[in-house]
Amino acid sequence: MLTRVPKGTFDVLPGEVEKWQFLEETARRLCRDYGYRELRTPIFEHTELFLRGVGDTTDVVEKEMYTFQDKGGRSISLRPEGTAPAARAYLEHGLHAGPQPVKVFYIGPMFRYANVQAGRYRQFHQFGIEVFGSGDPLVDAEVVAMAMEYYRRLRLRDMELHINSVGCPHCRPVHREKLLEFLRERLEQLCADCRSRVHRNPLRVLDCKEEECRRVTEGAPTTLDYLCSECRLHFEQTLSYLDEVGVQYVVDGRLVRGLDYYTRTAFEIMMPEIGAQSSIGGGGRYDGLVAQLGGPAVPGIGFAIGLERVLAALEKQGAVLPGRESLQVFVAVVGEEARRTGFKIVQELRSRGVSADLDTQNRSLKAQMKYANRLQAAMVAIIGEEELKRGIIQLRDMESGQQHEVKIEELYSAVAKRGR
Ligand code: AMP
Repeated sequence: MLTRVPKGTFDVLPGEVEKWQFLEETARRLCRDYGYRELRTPIFEHTELFLRGVGDTTDVVEKEMYTFQDKGGRSISLRPEGTAPAARAYLEHGLHAGPQPVKVFYIGPMFRYANVQAGRYRQFHQFGIEVFGSGDPLVDAEVVAMAMEYYRRLRLRDMELHINSVGCPHCRPVHREKLLEFLRERLEQLCADCRSRVHRNPLRVLDCKEEECRRVTEGAPTTLDYLCSECRLHFEQTLSYLDEVGVQYVVDGRLVRGLDYYTRTAFEIMMPEIGAQSSIGGGGRYDGLVAQLGGPAVPGIGFAIGLERVLAALEKQGAVLPGRESLQVFVAVVGEEARRTGFKIVQELRSRGVSADLDTQNRSLKAQMKYANRLQAAMVAIIGEEELKRGIIQLRDMESGQQHEVKIEELYSAVAKRGR
């Protein structure tokens, strides 16, 4: 227990963390280019936010939330997703009163008490964006294109973009009735989960991953068949804007998203080669959410990308990802006096923005050279008694193996010349 992380969580060790930094830096750069600014919200919120904002008939809220009472008796939940918190912050800080749209992004951990398997964790990480205050289909296209651009910048291949429109409060009830009719006739053939979903949230039945449920619902009426004229126009315009910028997609009338707040555009990006948990990101429009939280009727749209799965996909495709950054200078010392001088030199190098380190394990010179090699040091500065006496350093270029003497005060310019 004491030496194990909780199930469904993991450590990211040095060596691996550089890959995460690369995913995060690529996301930040992308957001800068698209005009999104970072929003940081707390890891936990009032449970009520997710009940209202995500929907209490969703699996995420019904079965997967980490909910507890704090010492003040409040019901608190670890955030299972980032959209409801972003909408809460947008309202709380009156951002709806400023210029619209408001474009924000977040990168951070989310928590769901899910069945742990490859690609499904209990603490996982999402990069997500949200746009509040524009219902324009151009924004739908831009958000979808931005998700695809993220994968493109990471050099991922073979993504499949699925897109649908789930309609609005005007047309969805019509579809819901038709779907209910269809499902009622096949109730016995559905799994237990779906049978209980039919009346509470029939759309979710289309999302069931059970083979049998998928077969039974094959010919089910889709939201696309019942879109009102406004929703249809919005969907057509969204697709035509995507065509304009060359984003390829598959229209998938069965695509519904796990969360309740979606209206109109819903999309998901799949990568079948990473296994059963093939969704590497998804999102959609949620025009009802801000009002649902007690604010004005403000449209919104966003996406969330699962970073664990993106990383798995990159590794599966054999991508070369950044690892440890090599050290510029290792200072190898022999004797206490040299160690003191070495420490001063290392500090001076660091203050000049050169990465530098020295031995603290009392290793022999030979062992220090070996250690420098392990650190992939570009250069080793060797200081022994002889060097101290003469005020010099032996500077060895680890790549070429060449070694020459430099005066201590010349070390800094010699290092600068060598560069990284
Ligand atoms: P969602 O908020 O459910 O739409 O999820 C958005 C993305 O987050 C998915 O496409 C996955 O890539 C990722 N994701 C969702 N749940 C998990 C989980 N339990 N473990 C790892 N990644 C997840």
